[in-house]
Amino acid sequence: MRDGPGRYVLKRGARAWFELELGVARRLRRLRGRPRFELAGECRGCARCCEAPSIRVGRVLWYFPTLRRLFLRWQRSVNGFELLRAERQGRLFVFRCSHFDWESRRCDSYASRPGICRDYPQALFDQPWPQLFEECGYRPRDRVGDALGTALQNADIPVATRRLLRKKLHLE
Ligand code: SF4
Repeated sequence: MRDGPGRYVLKRGARAWFELELGVARRLRRLRGRPRFELAGECRGCARCCEAPSIRVGRVLWYFPTLRRLFLRWQRSVNGFELLRAERQGRLFVFRCSHFDWESRRCDSYASRPGICRDYPQALFDQPWPQLFEECGYRPRDRVGDALGTALQNADIPVATRRLLRKKLHLE
């Protein structure tokens, strides 16, 4: 169901908090060194990332039942995220989004979509080896991959193999 003005304002506030937290966390992380991967490409609007939005949470939220319940209730009633499953490995909640129309592949409340939807796929870049959807127009580019790229360029291998390796090794 499309968001009304009340929910729009509520989600705007939540988004501001999300962005503040994320901004601080990323700035602190950057103090420890520049992230290895940078974001390249652009969104093609395939909506693959809307099919099953997932949120990784901290230990406290994962193991403390009251907090966990409150978090899931917020996701359901404010963001329209219905829990599909909880994956213990990685402390990941995987949802079905009630705003996503599978037929048109569109979001019925795009203007008020939560921060997590806006941030995709940046969050994946915190992982050691980011894996994006095959259909996604974004791609991670390895900042330290120049030497490997040159070696591949000079290697005696078929063009198709070189292209595949460049893609898989995040060199493009
Ligand atoms: S998966 Fe990538 S290309 Fe597709 S909608 Fe999401 S961000 Fe855009």
